[in-house]
Amino acid sequence: MHGLRSVSMTAQYQRIVLASRPRGKVSSDNFRIETVDRPVSLEPGSVLVQNHYLSLDPYMRGRMSAAKSYAQPQALDQTMVGETAGVVVESRFAGLSPGDHVVGRLGWAEMGVAGGESLRKVDAQKIPLSAYLGMVGMPGVTAWYGVNIILNARAGQTLVVSAASGAVGSVVGQLAKLKGCRVVGIAGGAQKCQYVTGHLGFDACIDYKQEFSDAELLASLSAAAPDGIDLLFENVGSTIFDTSLACLNPHARIALCGMVAAYGGSAAPLNNAGKLLTMRATLQGFIITEHMELWPRALDELAGLVTDNKLRCNETIAYGLAAAPGAFAGLLLGKNLGKQLIQLI
Ligand code: NDP
Repeated sequence: MHGLRSVSMTAQYQRIVLASRPRGKVSSDNFRIETVDRPVSLEPGSVLVQNHYLSLDPYMRGRMSAAKSYAQPQALDQTMVGETAGVVVESRFAGLSPGDHVVGRLGWAEMGVAGGESLRKVDAQKIPLSAYLGMVGMPGVTAWYGVNIILNARAGQTLVVSAASGAVGSVVGQLAKLKGCRVVGIAGGAQKCQYVTGHLGFDACIDYKQEFSDAELLASLSAAAPDGIDLLFENVGSTIFDTSLACLNPHARIALCGMVAAYGGSAAPLNNAGKLLTMRATLQGFIITEHMELWPRALDELAGLVTDNKLRCNETIAYGLAAAPGAFAGLLLGKNLGKQLIQLI
């Protein structure tokens, strides 16, 4: 159904805006929930979407800061940015109709209007809608890109991944296992490590929260990767990254994906950076949204693996828009197991 029409459902919806920029830890005071009017009519080419799920991602912490980065800061008093999955309510875009499931970037809001070109129509029959924000969405593509394009993982190599139980890390390790690598995860807490080895099938997992000193963390990692580290997928930075650097093999490859431990502003120094030189390592940072040309191929492969039950990921779901600020603060404290989502419907 296309054409100019008045929107006939509830006349208002809720959204969350950035109220202030955090110093250090994020708190609920940094956000404000607002009630806004639904649009009365749609412009040609645009689509009204009812969001069912919001994705919460560590990069949003960076956007909340005014510091210069690869993307513009989140504007104050505007809807928080973010990926969403939902259902088309009204459409003036030829490629989408009411009832279609779509993934977009409508932000922390119950609904929103987007240009039809910016929405990705997805099949929610074979794969649950929420998975398009995780394994078959931006985090999955991030993992795919790092493992295949940067690390070029091969059978017999040892790959280490930090934040191993999370949205990206869990897919990294499973993709590397499918390629025949020895996979060692690093995660916070016994429950996460049990999940990583027991449910996701990694060969070993280091619980960095159990370690009492840097030397003990190094000893645990060396024991779990006795032949050294060939491939490192780094999500955390800080002491965890530094310890992995100490275990690098000659010509190791590093995909520097994230440094979540520093997003609150407290970066620890790297004592083992010299290993990059002595091991002749290759380190590549990347931002996945700069590689859109590879997304269709990655998404295709990831969808196939999920459908074949070869890729798994837990979801931590909080319910209702008002839960988003607390769940986001929790994500940055490691309270999530797997992909952190907000379910709205
Ligand atoms: P996760 O689902 O892994 O959740 C974040 C996890 O980070 C937490 O569960 C926690 O796990 C860990 N963490 C948080 N704070 C700390 C800390 N101070 N020290 C150690 N670990 C911490 O998030 P994602 O999978 O979505 O993202 C993982 C990383 O990938 C992030 O750094 C993110 O910014 C990055 N990323 C980069 C992209 C790119 O294009 N370069 C795209 C997408 C993500 P634990 O309890 O195990 O410590």
